[in-house]
Amino acid sequence: MRTAQLPLGTLPARVSIREVGPRDGLQNEDVILSTKQKIALIDCLSDSGLEYIEVGSFVHPRVVPQMADTAEVFARIERHPDIVYSAIAPNLKGAERAIEAGADAIQVFLSTSESHNQSNVHMSISESLAQASEIGRLVRSSGKLFDAVLSVVFGCPFEGHVPVDRVLDIAAQLIESGAQQITLGDTTGMAHPRLVQEVCVGFAERLPQVPVRFHPHSARGAGLANVLAALQVGVDRFDASVGGIGGCPFAPGAPGNVCTEDMVHMLHEMGVATGISLPQVMSCARGLETLLGHEVPGQTIKAGICGHLGPVGEPRIVELEHL
Ligand code: ZN
Repeated sequence: MRTAQLPLGTLPARVSIREVGPRDGLQNEDVILSTKQKIALIDCLSDSGLEYIEVGSFVHPRVVPQMADTAEVFARIERHPDIVYSAIAPNLKGAERAIEAGADAIQVFLSTSESHNQSNVHMSISESLAQASEIGRLVRSSGKLFDAVLSVVFGCPFEGHVPVDRVLDIAAQLIESGAQQITLGDTTGMAHPRLVQEVCVGFAERLPQVPVRFHPHSARGAGLANVLAALQVGVDRFDASVGGIGGCPFAPGAPGNVCTEDMVHMLHEMGVATGISLPQVMSCARGLETLLGHEVPGQTIKAGICGHLGPVGEPRIVELEHL
């Protein structure tokens, strides 16, 4: 049976993937890559046709030592004019540094549960919203993209279920503060397809003025099923991590981010375009295995591309493995 005959409903013809491996992925790895290695990874990814790459974060290096060199990485990557290169700003100072470093988009993070927000940033949600509003003013006045990411949307490790209305209330306030995109993060891998559809449909009904992006996790194996569920209700922006790097911060050893090349492979096989060269992303993932010194969780680099099971070409990044 051809995929077009399956009762999947009307899927978007094309989706946009934000690559989060260089930040979300590497931040959750024990191995800290050198600045040159990070640059090589990002340059390899830039050549793949991705439209959006999360480069790093301007969090204090004491908190996240893996991201201490983000400004230098920004200064030395080969920028493609049609790619959005983003950075995370934990506060106003971080946003200033991100803008100075040349980030095209500034991301703020906010939890949808009080206990998770407290444990993460030692602030209440309303304090975080007030701070996001200040950051939003600065980012919008600088002409950059102001991008808000909500965590634990589909379940909190401390509080369990998160009410959909609360998620939408927080998103509405971020939009009022100038957010031009809202990402719904399944930080703990607690989402399932019905819940994904409930939240995404609720979002589109109440806040149709701003695009929604889905950040799936696979801690319980439901990552790509949740991506399909989101596609079925019209979501066309997704986050993924090359090689699937970045485990679940709440479950050591469990997978976290959904793998970019696995997501791209599934989408392409279903006839959904991404604009991404799958062999190129697979090359980046293979190079990344060399850089990290261990296998990555992605499946497609092990199984090969359907209908293209031969060698996928030499990864550009391998030349840089000894840096
Ligand atoms: Zn993630």
